Amino acid sequence: MHRPAALIVVTLLSVTATAQAPRTPDWRALEDETMQHFQALLRLDTSNPPGNEKLATDYLQRVLEREGIATNVFALDPNRPNLVARIKGNGSKRPLLLMGHTDVVTVDPKKWTFPPFSATRDGGYVYSRGSLDDKPHVVAGLMILLQLKRLNVALDRDVIFLAEASEEGSTSGAPPPGIDFMVNQHHGEIDAEYCLAEGGAVTRTGGKVMFAAVQTLEKNPRAIELTARGISGHASIPTGDNPVVHLAAAVAAVGRWRAPVRLNDTTTEYFKRLAAMSSGAEADRYRSILTPGSSKGKEADEYFAVREPRFAAMLRTTVTPTIVAGGYRINVIPSEAKATLDVRMMPDEDPARFLELVRQVVNDPAIDVAYGQRTARPIGKSARLNSEAFSAIEAAVTRNYETPTLPMMGTGATDMAQVRAKGTECYGISPASDSEDGPKGFGAHSDQERILETELHRFVRFEWDVVSSLAAAK
Ligand SMILES: [Zn+2]
Repeated sequence: MHRPAALIVVTLLSVTATAQAPRTPDWRALEDETMQHFQALLRLDTSNPPGNEKLATDYLQRVLEREGIATNVFALDPNRPNLVARIKGNGSKRPLLLMGHTDVVTVDPKKWTFPPFSATRDGGYVYSRGSLDDKPHVVAGLMILLQLKRLNVALDRDVIFLAEASEEGSTSGAPPPGIDFMVNQHHGEIDAEYCLAEGGAVTRTGGKVMFAAVQTLEKNPRAIELTARGISGHASIPTGDNPVVHLAAAVAAVGRWRAPVRLNDTTTEYFKRLAAMSSGAEADRYRSILTPGSSKGKEADEYFAVREPRFAAMLRTTVTPTIVAGGYRINVIPSEAKATLDVRMMPDEDPARFLELVRQVVNDPAIDVAYGQRTARPIGKSARLNSEAFSAIEAAVTRNYETPTLPMMGTGATDMAQVRAKGTECYGISPASDSEDGPKGFGAHSDQERILETELHRFVRFEWDVVSSLAAAK
């Protein structure tokens, strides 16, 4: 009984393995090619503004079409196109969308050790604007499409690559030429069941991978303006209604205030999993915050506010004063002074109710509290934690990083907001970076943005792993 049974199991396993194994590229052998495309993309100055993303889409188009992959370019502004390429599946499942934005934030070249568009390789790193944000996603999408095509991988669903313009916001007031244009005018081109894009984080500390955060929803950026008004006059005679004084008190009050803690499915799971992988006082705090009204919960929140502000920010809608303007010469009491507050709303926050809360905090009838202009992103539903995609990501994290996966609510904003609002379930993933790097000035948007070469290559393998488990024919 025993021996034949074992034999049958072995036979079944080998049959299953042969039938299911997607053809896997030799990624080690492809590292030179990946690096060559990565450096080429980094050397194209796509600083936004003005963007000039056409440099990058032209490059991608040349590479893809040389290998027989058709591309489509959609441009609201001819210099700022979006590129779409698709590898067809058999249609038994709905498509998977891979996104990467081609624009980068501007630079102050004087502050860079290596020129910001040189893509210099030094000590195992690549230094360049865009080396973290977001050209790893662009090159990963490119390499994955090339390999799907070269290996002729049979797919249950289409794999779509979107290299989109203008993610880093626009100050020109012109209609946004990137993801908004794509979801509003060409949604059929990128309509998918799942999408993968920037926004996650694999954190290394002391060179060791600690955990992988996968972004499943994000906060909604808004602006609130505080406007103080009074009677102008000669500064030699101080008055009680000086708008500068009123505004200063209001800014101080909202700056010290923290909105009430509110959890959702993603943040609950995030802190639960953090607690499970931590110990001692740390684990205690992560558990306590799950009952925010308790005295231990309040203590944990206090601790986060001082020592771990990113956790405090995940727990509530945040308000950060960023611009103060008032007065124009020393001897004039101005009639008006204004402050702008950067607001990051929980996705389910009621904006009217929240504005009323801020009014109560300001508590000054001389100050008008109102929402200001800000490019709005729509609010989509959270991506599910029990989906096929989340399971595939979690399994690929284990295989490639040997670390736990934490679902995360992003405090910042990404192009996934627009895609989620159209019903696609989007997951934010990103290459690993060292937690020590940000404070030293090597992070995204910094003057020495850099990526570890080994982590770029691991990211490409990881994303391929996710794509092949979600899309390869079963
Ligand atoms: Zn980005």
